[in-house]
Amino acid sequence: MLTVDEAIDLVRRESRRLPAVSVPLAESRGCILAEKVVADADQPPFDKALVDGYALRAADVEGGNKRLRVGETVLAGQVPTRALGPREAALVMTGAPVPSGTDAVLMHEHAERLDGEVHVGTASVQAGQNLLPQGRVCRAGDPVLFAGACLTPPRLGLLASVGKSHARIIPRPRVAVVPTGDELVEIGQTPGPGQIRNSNAIMLEALAISAGASAQVFPIVRDEPAALESCVRAGLEFDVLVINGGVSAGQRDLVPAALERLGARPVFHKVRVKPGKPLWFGVGPSRGDLPGARVFGLPGNPVSSLVGFVLFVQPCLQILAGGEGQPTETLEARLAGTFTHRGDRPTYHPARLLKREGTTDSAWPVVEPLNWVGSADLLGVADAEGFAVFPAGDRVFQAGEIVRFLPLR
Ligand code: AMP
Ligand code: MG
Repeated sequence: MLTVDEAIDLVRRESRRLPAVSVPLAESRGCILAEKVVADADQPPFDKALVDGYALRAADVEGGNKRLRVGETVLAGQVPTRALGPREAALVMTGAPVPSGTDAVLMHEHAERLDGEVHVGTASVQAGQNLLPQGRVCRAGDPVLFAGACLTPPRLGLLASVGKSHARIIPRPRVAVVPTGDELVEIGQTPGPGQIRNSNAIMLEALAISAGASAQVFPIVRDEPAALESCVRAGLEFDVLVINGGVSAGQRDLVPAALERLGARPVFHKVRVKPGKPLWFGVGPSRGDLPGARVFGLPGNPVSSLVGFVLFVQPCLQILAGGEGQPTETLEARLAGTFTHRGDRPTYHPARLLKREGTTDSAWPVVEPLNWVGSADLLGVADAEGFAVFPAGDRVFQAGEIVRFLPLR
């Protein structure tokens, strides 16, 4: 059976970035830019006042105690009608272009206005003060962002400032979430005998969205070949298909067969991990110009689904979206107390990190495994910040021993 690392490797090898598309800037938040963007004009496009005050020549007020005649007033959005005359100032507002000849702006608060004159007392005025010269940020034609940049909020603002109303980006992967199971009812329903609520679909949708994808949740599919096949067919039109449940060895675990009947190529089925062993991964038939859907059949137990998503789906989504898809990084942490692990598979046990008040041994975070009864227990995960990873084998881990910790984002 594949190890977690081998399985992640296969997922990464089968994942490619999606083809770039052009979208309105407002839809590109968090996406990877797929083009170089250059400034369309000098920034700022004119010599700009950075404060409300008086545009002047610093030499005219050298030594202090000088009076200048106040000529025109320039508000933000206006343009000066003429250059500064000799021993003249202009009243300018923040963001306004200053008259030519200006080399400094004296803050309004540091000047005294007397009728048509401004009195500059002891305030020292240096050339360049409170003035942002044209092109000081960048020149027309200068690159401002390169392909590969993640579009963070400041970068979106930057693109807006150079007039990019649309950007060429790697699109968000579109994820289909397909819950399966005869026993499932929707959240608002009261489960009848033998039934449980569909708790996974909303969790998987949220995980996909948190990973930067868009997600569409399908209605619950019954464990019945025809119903399953029609949903799987629709799901294979997405970039990523996450089918939940029906991938183990039970009588009604019909998902792998349905996928293969519809032309999906299996890459692996089962990973040496607890919870989440019967995970199925494959690639759907290609969709015209687009590559086939990456298909994850996640076992239905809620925590199996969660672990499977974090370990395997998340790196795939990152790669499709133009990132590196590095496995989620684990950190080393000291165990807060003794912990007995049993099992022949590495176990991802819900855990939280403790504050280390008063300890000198501050280099290591301290990890506390939480009470948890297994893969069906979401309550035990509700307060988890991630998973402590215990290697395969029966063994008692002592307080202070070092284990790996997989953070949940
Ligand atoms: P399966 O992988 O279909 O064999 O399901 C394993 C366990 O997970 C069963 O106890 C199912 O009832 C449960 N399960 C499957 N799908 C869901 C879901 N969407 N929400 C909550 N539990 C589920
Ligand atoms: Mg099932």
